[in-house]
Amino acid sequence: MTVIGVFALQGNVREHLAMLAQVGVEGRAVRRPSELAEVDAMVLPGGESTTMDKLARAFELFEPLQKRIADGMPVFGTCAGMIMLANEITGGTADQETLGGLDVTVRRNAFGRQVDSFEADLEFAALDSPYHAVFIRAPWVERVGRDVEVLSTVRSGPATGRIVAVRHDRLLATSFHPEMTGDARLHGYFAELVRGR
Ligand code: GLN
Repeated sequence: MTVIGVFALQGNVREHLAMLAQVGVEGRAVRRPSELAEVDAMVLPGGESTTMDKLARAFELFEPLQKRIADGMPVFGTCAGMIMLANEITGGTADQETLGGLDVTVRRNAFGRQVDSFEADLEFAALDSPYHAVFIRAPWVERVGRDVEVLSTVRSGPATGRIVAVRHDRLLATSFHPEMTGDARLHGYFAELVRGR
């Protein structure tokens, strides 16, 4: 059976585990390398990417994660998790590093102070109705590499056209928090990606 780990050193871990359960996948909190070795895929939750970076190093998960990603492990990065997956970031702290793998440039805290946190209905080709998304000090994607598919952009307001969901082969990333509204369709989409469908 497919097991999806949730990076559990920081962020909304419980909520992601609940979403995975909702789509019929076994989810497991991952805090150490031995736990990472036992999962088929990972969710990197939202939180604070600079802290996630530091904690991943302190708990010796940074390099094992990088290696698994390079070996093709599917990963769903949400908000700070999207930042962690990006090959390149702008607005990071001086010593901030990312795991990389996703060929994009992501801008941290991109929406600015006025729209620090907001909600928006997004269109996804893979979903039959809009997805209500919650953004919290969210990043956006400024550049996408050739093999990166844009899954969704903001439809109205000052940030119209900004890219907020992408897929690059087995890496999926969203600017928003898909674990906060009870709508598990993106976790379902990820689970299918993991199963190779
Ligand atoms: N602003 C946070 C960061 O830079 C991300 C916010 C979030 O994950 N909700 O890591």
